[in-house]
Amino acid sequence: MARKKFGRGANKCWRCGTFTGLVRKYGLMICRKCFREAARELGFEKYG
Ligand SMILES: [Zn+2]
Repeated sequence: MARKKFGRGANKCWRCGTFTGLVRKYGLMICRKCFREAARELGFEKYG
């Protein structure tokens, strides 16, 4: 019997899967760590 600890409204980084330090800027839904890395790939470098 597995309970879903994280139901609706639970967000996690789609890159590494962490639940902490999430950044929802620009609708990226990504953690701060991955944000810096993904920023280059996605072209957000100028915003960093
Ligand atoms: Zn991440």
